[in-house]
Amino acid sequence: MNLNSVVEVKRPASADEIRQWRDGYAWLAGGTWLFSEPQDATDTLIDLDQLHWPALEASSAGLDIAATCRIAELYRFEGPAEWIATPLLRECCNCFLASFKIWNAATVGGNICMSLPAGPMISLAAALEATLTLWPRDAAPREVPAVDFVTGNHTNVLQRGELLRNIHLPARALSGRFALRRASLTQLGRSAALLIGTRSVHSDDDLLITITATTPRPLQLRFDRFPSANDLRQAIDARIPADSYFDDVHGTPAYKRHLTYYFAEQIRAELARPAKPAQPGVRA
Ligand SMILES: Cc1cc2nc3c(=O)[nH]c(=O)nc-3n(C[C@H](O)[C@H](O)[C@H](O)COP(=O)(O)OP(=O)(O)OC[C@H]3O[C@@H](n4cnc5c(N)ncnc54)[C@H](O)[C@@H]3O)c2cc1C
Repeated sequence: MNLNSVVEVKRPASADEIRQWRDGYAWLAGGTWLFSEPQDATDTLIDLDQLHWPALEASSAGLDIAATCRIAELYRFEGPAEWIATPLLRECCNCFLASFKIWNAATVGGNICMSLPAGPMISLAAALEATLTLWPRDAAPREVPAVDFVTGNHTNVLQRGELLRNIHLPARALSGRFALRRASLTQLGRSAALLIGTRSVHSDDDLLITITATTPRPLQLRFDRFPSANDLRQAIDARIPADSYFDDVHGTPAYKRHLTYYFAEQIRAELARPAKPAQPGVRA
């Protein structure tokens, strides 16, 4: 839609050009949300496109994803064979309520900054224990764990004018096993539940379960010893009070609570099974 309140679009070549932030400014990434509804409080868009940040940079330390990386670019990423969690990137792209038109415009950073409970890039970043690099205006960059970035439905830790620059997925997490479960009330609809379990390949006992969409913000259950079904259920109860599940048109809190137990146990059972031996040249 046309944004009638917008009178200027800035296209900086460097984020440093925007030192003074004022009410009415908004960073523009893919624009898929910004242009989907009126933005009466916004008069100036600051387009991130001309910053030309490299979308994806793989190294021995892990994968750096620029905030401006398009969903379609992430979907096409091929990691080294030892990064057996690489298929999770695609699986999370498939969790959007979105057509290819959205994928070609929407960015990873835009999805994280939207901070919706059903933001699949938030689920991905939290599950793979990402570190986010934030660029405040007129202060040194800072880093936050992805799981702590979202604070509630459509709220996060970004300060006024602060820019999300980078999402770093560590090689250790990319080298681990994973299991994903998702439910939506309609085919290709917005997620009512999106749970991801991860387990490192070098430990017999660990398990990390990341719960998203059923709760307003991501929550994680970390086990140093592989839990029984009963341990897992108790950990969910201890972490998520029954009245704190997310209530919206995509599912009632009772339904989302049920899905949380159901999927967490499915993930636990799947990751309890021994890993399939890797075949040369074939990704697990
Ligand atoms: C048909 C349709 C389906 C959708 N399905 C989903 C869905 O399933 N799940 C979901 O979560 N969302 C969904 N959305 C909402 C939205 O499109 C996505 O969240 C998308 O990923 C936003 O990315 P973008 O790059 O287009 O962000 P924009 O629309 O450009 O920006 C979104 C917000 O983030 C801010 N922002 C963007 N980048 C940065 C940055 N680097 N640093 C700081 N602030 C920044 C902007 O100022 C704005 O407030 C959908 C939208 C549509 C139209």
